[in-house]
Amino acid sequence: MDLTLDAADLAWQARAREFAETVLLPHELDLEMTGALPQATKDELRRAVVAHGLNGINHGPEVGGQGCTQLQQTLINEELGKATNALWAVVWHPAAPLRQGTAEQIRDYLIPSCLGERRACVAVTEPDAGSDTGAIRTTATRQGDRYVISGEKWFVTSADVADYIIVHAIVDGDPHQPTLFLVDRNASGVIVKREPKFTHTYVFGHHELVFDHVEVGVERVLGGVGQGLELTKDWFVEARLQIAANCLGAAIRAFELANHWASRRVQFGAPIRKQQAVEFMLADMAVEIMAAKSMVYRVAGQIDHGADRKLAHAHASVVKLHASEMAGRVLDRAVQIFGGRGYMRENPVERLSRDVRVDRIWEGTSEIQRVIIGGQLAKRGTQVFTGWYR
Ligand SMILES: Cc1cc2nc3c(=O)[nH]c(=O)nc-3n(C[C@H](O)[C@H](O)[C@H](O)COP(=O)(O)OP(=O)(O)OC[C@H]3O[C@@H](n4cnc5c(N)ncnc54)[C@H](O)[C@@H]3O)c2cc1C
Repeated sequence: MDLTLDAADLAWQARAREFAETVLLPHELDLEMTGALPQATKDELRRAVVAHGLNGINHGPEVGGQGCTQLQQTLINEELGKATNALWAVVWHPAAPLRQGTAEQIRDYLIPSCLGERRACVAVTEPDAGSDTGAIRTTATRQGDRYVISGEKWFVTSADVADYIIVHAIVDGDPHQPTLFLVDRNASGVIVKREPKFTHTYVFGHHELVFDHVEVGVERVLGGVGQGLELTKDWFVEARLQIAANCLGAAIRAFELANHWASRRVQFGAPIRKQQAVEFMLADMAVEIMAAKSMVYRVAGQIDHGADRKLAHAHASVVKLHASEMAGRVLDRAVQIFGGRGYMRENPVERLSRDVRVDRIWEGTSEIQRVIIGGQLAKRGTQVFTGWYR
């Protein structure tokens, strides 16, 4: 079994690390203290992503992407995840279902998105439909060669910087026809209802949007009528691995800072790491991070080696669940090791402790990941999780 990273893997890792350290980290405190970055800075960051060749890492070069393997994407997202305030989000990952677009959609949406000329946000969640996507009520009613979309979407991340929205709606009010639509952000009838504040200081917004009789042509259906849920399955695998990698990066940064602080901070005449209570916290952090890293890299590698789609889906749930909960535990210990200083917003550990909380909620809550894992156990047995692959 070869678990080494090859030269190309290491080069991507180094590139992402350099980007995080020189481009993202300098903006952390400003963003935290002011609550938002100026538009000029956001534009500068977008250009820096392209200049570093980190645009479209999850798509092939034929559509303007970088053609990274899943493992390389994981290495990149781990490095980016070290940045607080979710600054990793400045590196866009055009949504996987765009690959299923028509030739025109690939030309007009996917390619410009990979190149950084366009940016999408994704509107699935509704006031009465969160974990239960079957309860989605946003309707797309066919009228001749157009659809008229009406409904309300919540938590639409990056709606403030996106120029188009991938909207999940049901066609003609039929819940069995879940469908994705490409809607221009400035289309008539797209209304920003609220821009709520959240626990983290996120680099972009999470808007509530109302779609009030928004008209789109039939050519704006992405991947076929009724394909909405099917298309999101592969997308979830990518997104959940990305979250797991970001969590890994956040935990590693906090661990390094806490380990350093435990050597420097002297109380009762000795560095606090000499106290077994602190030493054990550090030891537990090391173990948890090593376990999570092994899982995340393994599953990414398996996907690169052609893992079965259902297996990838089940394993992505395991990885997302474990890495996000691991990050919560590691960050909590890191705050504790810093004592009062760990509660100050100027400390990256404090910010990361808030940042990683949402990773147990979005892209399927921890409970929903357990539902998926439990479902696989019932259907396919323990081997799905206990087996090894040749
Ligand atoms: C900061 C942020 C950004 C987001 N960005 C986006 C975005 O860009 N686009 C988008 O569409 N959505 C986005 N979301 C929405 C996110 O995906 C949902 O919040 C998430 O899926 C949970 O839905 P909910 O909040 O309605 O909670 P609910 O589904 O109401 O769940 C509430 C609680 O009940 C539990 N629960 C529900 N059903 C079950 C079950 N069957 N078994 C066990 N427990 C259950 C949940 O685990 C949770 O603990 C974002 C959310 C946040 C907080």
